[in-house]
Amino acid sequence: MSIVQGGRSVSAAARAAAIQLIARKSPVAVAAAPQPLPQLFGVNVFGLDQMRARLPESAYKALRSCMEHGQELDHALADLVANAMKEWAVERGATHFTHWFQPMTGSTAEKHDSFASLEGGKLILEFSGKALIKGEPDASSFPSGGLRATFEARGYTAWDPTSPAFLRETTNGSTLCIPTAFCSWTGEALDEKTPLLRSSEALSREAVRLLRLLGDERVQYVYTTLGCEQEYFLIDRDLYLLRPDLVATGRTLFGARPPKGQELEDHYFGSIQPRVLAFMQEAELELWKLGVPVKTRHNEVAPSQYEVAPIFERTTVAVDHNMLAMEVMKQVAQRHGFHCLLHEKPYAGINGSGKHNNWSMATDGGDNLLEPGTSPEQNMRFMVMLAAVMRAIDLHADLLRTTIAHAGNDHRLGANEAPPAILSIYLGEQLTDVVEALIAGTGRGSERKRDTMRLGVSVLPPLPRDATDRNRTSPFAFTGNKFEFRAVGASQACGRPNAVLNTIVADSLACIADEIERAKAQKGLEAAVNEVVVDLLKKHRRILFNGNGYSAAWHQEAEQRGLPSFRNAVDAIGNFGSRKNVELFERFGVLSAKEVESRMNIQFEAYSKAIAIEGQSALSLARTVILPAAQKSQLAVAQSVQAAKACGIDVKVQEKRLRELSARIEAFVGAIDDLTTQFEQAEHHAGAPADHARTYRDKVVPAMGRLREVADGLETMVDDADWPLPKYREILFLQ
Ligand code: ADP
Ligand code: MG
Repeated sequence: MSIVQGGRSVSAAARAAAIQLIARKSPVAVAAAPQPLPQLFGVNVFGLDQMRARLPESAYKALRSCMEHGQELDHALADLVANAMKEWAVERGATHFTHWFQPMTGSTAEKHDSFASLEGGKLILEFSGKALIKGEPDASSFPSGGLRATFEARGYTAWDPTSPAFLRETTNGSTLCIPTAFCSWTGEALDEKTPLLRSSEALSREAVRLLRLLGDERVQYVYTTLGCEQEYFLIDRDLYLLRPDLVATGRTLFGARPPKGQELEDHYFGSIQPRVLAFMQEAELELWKLGVPVKTRHNEVAPSQYEVAPIFERTTVAVDHNMLAMEVMKQVAQRHGFHCLLHEKPYAGINGSGKHNNWSMATDGGDNLLEPGTSPEQNMRFMVMLAAVMRAIDLHADLLRTTIAHAGNDHRLGANEAPPAILSIYLGEQLTDVVEALIAGTGRGSERKRDTMRLGVSVLPPLPRDATDRNRTSPFAFTGNKFEFRAVGASQACGRPNAVLNTIVADSLACIADEIERAKAQKGLEAAVNEVVVDLLKKHRRILFNGNGYSAAWHQEAEQRGLPSFRNAVDAIGNFGSRKNVELFERFGVLSAKEVESRMNIQFEAYSKAIAIEGQSALSLARTVILPAAQKSQLAVAQSVQAAKACGIDVKVQEKRLRELSARIEAFVGAIDDLTTQFEQAEHHAGAPADHARTYRDKVVPAMGRLREVADGLETMVDDADWPLPKYREILFLQ
């Protein structure tokens, strides 16, 4: 039982009780013994197998064709599919369905509707094609960044048949969830899914055109692949409930450094604690049933930090699956007496959490376009793709940086633990040598380097893929046959980073195809490709960096190279709407100028709101929880000193200590007043969303930092028996 349900609020007594409860907790078993994994996997997904089994053959074929070509379903077909889906869901205990979508809140949304309908006074279950393909949730309370005036509040959700429907099983029933895109009535995207789908099409179109030019006659479409390594923290739920800052903001706004942090490096890959393992196993079970192919689990660097990674999938599906994974983990954690923290920086002084976004491109034939090949032709294709990515990141680092810009991630990027805020690409030594040799064109370089390389003729030297070669400080690293974008925050929906990656790479592919086409007429294909690739490598070589991304020297060097550095979210976000970026999004049909602007506004507003909530939480905790505890301690010490003095005892040193404690309390009250002033000014600051965000960053964030410093000092002086907030040493180590 939770102590907070027992009626106690945040207090030293509740903290002591929570700790006692933890000692009595043991791993929670799942209700039924799990089936073997192959039988279990995807049982809650209405996938191709179910469609084939439940639809007439002609309908199944028509549906697959619509899915492959992104066409709309006609009414008759939609009715057939909806009915089959409903029967499947009802057999499994579903009473309701919901369109499941990703508004620009960073999470998912759902509005349940039952299959119930009345016919002659009797209740029947039905699900029409119309209800399957289109929903009309009231959109007025979702962020639209000014896209949707309130008088046309309606938005609609439209089924995305490329992502299968699934069943969410909960304690008292099941709900059929239908992944959808979410748009305004005027057709503007109000979600993260729509631009991702549009960008996937753009990338496919440009990649196919380029591959055809390179001589691939079979390729029909190209898709990107994604595997998200998800980091997270677990905290015992009874301790969590006693931290109102964690509950409101996802991170601790106070907390002194514990005697032991992560310095012993004993948590990373350590043996997994039994209660934690029980949680992981149940979360995996749930996810497998939902067709999410989670594969690895381990302890991360910080105490009570973990990671889960799936087998990669098509990006549009992988993004949905990552959203599902985050939801499922949060829910399952509760059953195990934990809370799952996805915030980028729940605790100061120890590592934060990221989401490594492993990204590649594949053909319909299953070829990974970032796999260095064994033949000259494959190598040529690989180097073309590599050059395309280098160009994309170099030209559009500013845009990619916006996709990872939010209040939570500001604590990671640029701090000494996560990738720096400056985007650069790590290729590793061997591949860098290949690039240098191609640029040198003569094989001069150092002795280590190969002879002259010519694409289409030479074979690349084998590139080792072992882990020792990896540079953990790079924000964008080539890891053998994919790129790993490591600057994405743990809590983020990865729709946007991938939509932007797809778009900027599509732009490079288009540009390369144009240039090769032009040069080919004069020199033939092979020489043309060589020329174009070498030219690009030369132009964009400055984006390559294999060294330590955390070092101060790199910041200087990056500046000399002219690489942009946006130190915080507010500096970065404004680039989303630059003329260059609007033009790019429009050219590839990914976002219109209006859609770009609305997204940028939403991002600024989200930043301001996040900081405002933090400011308010900090103030309320400081005034009503920490200050009273400190004053209580002050009183006790003052009384003790006074009593001793009355007995004629020398208390000089104790008096000094009392003065020190009082001075800190004085400073604390001063810091509370300071934050109050800054917060009120920010709150009442009228201005554009960007101005507003800047005020929060420049006024409220530093004032919160000052307040915390004094509070953390008090934590080290106040009688432990009177301290109401669970301390880092408890939160991080008691499970
Ligand atoms: P690590 O990065 O720790 O070495 P792996 O290389 O095994 O781990 O993979 C990390 C993630 O990258 C996994 O989710 C994996 O499925 C994914 N991944 C592997 N190959 C690809 C690919 N071609 N495209 C996208 N993701 C991939
Ligand atoms: Mg990795």
